[in-house]
Amino acid sequence: MPIRLSTHAERHSMIRGEPSRGEHTLKGIPASAGLAIGKAVVLNVATGSSTPERIAPHEVEAEVSRFRVALEAVVAELVRASELARSESATVSSIIESFLLIVGDPIVTQSICERIGAGASAEAAVIAEYDAAKGTLVMANDPFLRERVQDFEHVRERVLAMLRNATLAHSVASDSIVVAGSITPQDMLFFKHSKTLGFVTEVGGINSHACILARDLSLPAVIGIRSATTEIVSGQTIIVDGFAGVVVVDPDEATLLEYVRRHHELAEHRKRLGELIGQPSQTSDGVGVKLYVNVDTPQQAVEAVMQGADGIGLVRTEFLLVQQGRYPTVEEQEEWYREIALRAFPLPVTFRAFDVGSDKFRIGIPHHEDNPALGLRGIRFLLFKPDVFEQQVCAVLRASANRNVRFMLPMVSVIDEVVQAKAVIERCKERLRAEGVDHDPNMPIGIMIETPSAALMTESLAASVDFMSIGSNDLTQYALATDRTNELVADIYDALHPSVLRLIAFVVDAANKMNKPVSLCGELAGHAIASEMLVGLGLHEFSVSPALLLELKSRIRATTHAACVERAKAAVFQSSTADVYTVLSQGRP
Ligand code: PEP
Ligand code: MG
Repeated sequence: MPIRLSTHAERHSMIRGEPSRGEHTLKGIPASAGLAIGKAVVLNVATGSSTPERIAPHEVEAEVSRFRVALEAVVAELVRASELARSESATVSSIIESFLLIVGDPIVTQSICERIGAGASAEAAVIAEYDAAKGTLVMANDPFLRERVQDFEHVRERVLAMLRNATLAHSVASDSIVVAGSITPQDMLFFKHSKTLGFVTEVGGINSHACILARDLSLPAVIGIRSATTEIVSGQTIIVDGFAGVVVVDPDEATLLEYVRRHHELAEHRKRLGELIGQPSQTSDGVGVKLYVNVDTPQQAVEAVMQGADGIGLVRTEFLLVQQGRYPTVEEQEEWYREIALRAFPLPVTFRAFDVGSDKFRIGIPHHEDNPALGLRGIRFLLFKPDVFEQQVCAVLRASANRNVRFMLPMVSVIDEVVQAKAVIERCKERLRAEGVDHDPNMPIGIMIETPSAALMTESLAASVDFMSIGSNDLTQYALATDRTNELVADIYDALHPSVLRLIAFVVDAANKMNKPVSLCGELAGHAIASEMLVGLGLHEFSVSPALLLELKSRIRATTHAACVERAKAAVFQSSTADVYTVLSQGRP
């Protein structure tokens, strides 16, 4: 639970002497949890002197060179951001790479120069060209392509900002809160380096690239406050409440003191959580629960060890593809896997095979799919592209030489997929043996249970594998026939629907019967209201994001196994998600 607060001295000066313009609260959307109190820095992309739409023929050459200078400045900015991102977040790094691809596209550049040659000002040419590209993407059937519209908008705004010589002030004073129309991921990386406390924006989706980064960086953020840059004035004291999704402008003394109190309370809470590192993860009556973490990068593996995790329950290896925009070589993959395995050693690390699908990474998918979630995804894709799969298996096996590596197959829906995948794994072991390459010949093989079919067939599947992990994100999507990325059906998509809980209960019973370990690694594992119920359903292994590990441990240590069983019984027999929330909320603060 991140708390970002300005210094003690500053807080005092805020509390004491400022002329108040009257406290008011702006309501937005909570995008990244946490509290920040500081001075607002409002970023208006100054329009500068307005440029004409058309230019005279003798101005063309100068205008083209003005455009090229701006373009180069944007590329330089993105390259710098990409270097910063590499050590901060694989997700952001890949986003910036895609911005670079757009900005560096020679066809787009050529076309803008031609528009300028035909008499358009650089600004008008940039707007026309990027809007034309956006128009094509908006019409695309492919949702992945449609999502790229946002990237084109970001790039266009950066080029325009450079052209107008109105670069956002990346060197905002430390301990300030940035208020802007929108913020790009690379802005955010720069701001983070100048110790910005939090963010307020007018637009953006909860899953926009910038919000993903804010959460990655633990920076409180509230988005969707339409009037933010006009209602807030630079220098004003503001409070960003990333839990409630509100921004308090010019807080009065009582409000400020209340937020300072909450800050101390939350800081205490974090400290108490820190004390749980090294404490056993078990209910108060001694039932042990193993806590693993989900990681995307080698850096997060270190975090997992420091938090006292029992291991790494999920490495989403497709991040490596998204980050690089291609399939890395066996050597590159081996190095990345080995680094994670070594950093976590002797804790076990579970590498999940590339969960490629049209929504995440489409290289290798032969043509457009109308229903990508139901198409060539996960293990289906890997068996369709055996060369890609074999290279990954060999790389993981090579990295398994220290014997702490496990391998997991995503999106299994029929047993034949497991049989075929195991044959590929055996072939790879054979090859490594013949080459005299050290590896773990007994590397445990597991599967994700994330389709209703796999859930209902757990007993049969369990006989063929060493472990299983329930992917509640996809299990929910497929059980409720509800696209997990479609906001139009977001009210139906909820992992606490009784159908999902009954499937989980079924899987756990079948796995226990077969004496095979089963964990849960979807978002549900970190859901505060669900922990006791899940333990009560018989789950004794969870894998969550590193930030949630100690929260989960504290909830488990605060309950008894009998209470968990009660909660589970009450929840699974409900008939709606709302009823499940009601019963799980009873007796909670
Ligand atoms: C899941 O589906 O719950 C899961 C952990 O996998 P992903 O979110 O990567 O699909
Ligand atoms: Mg999944």
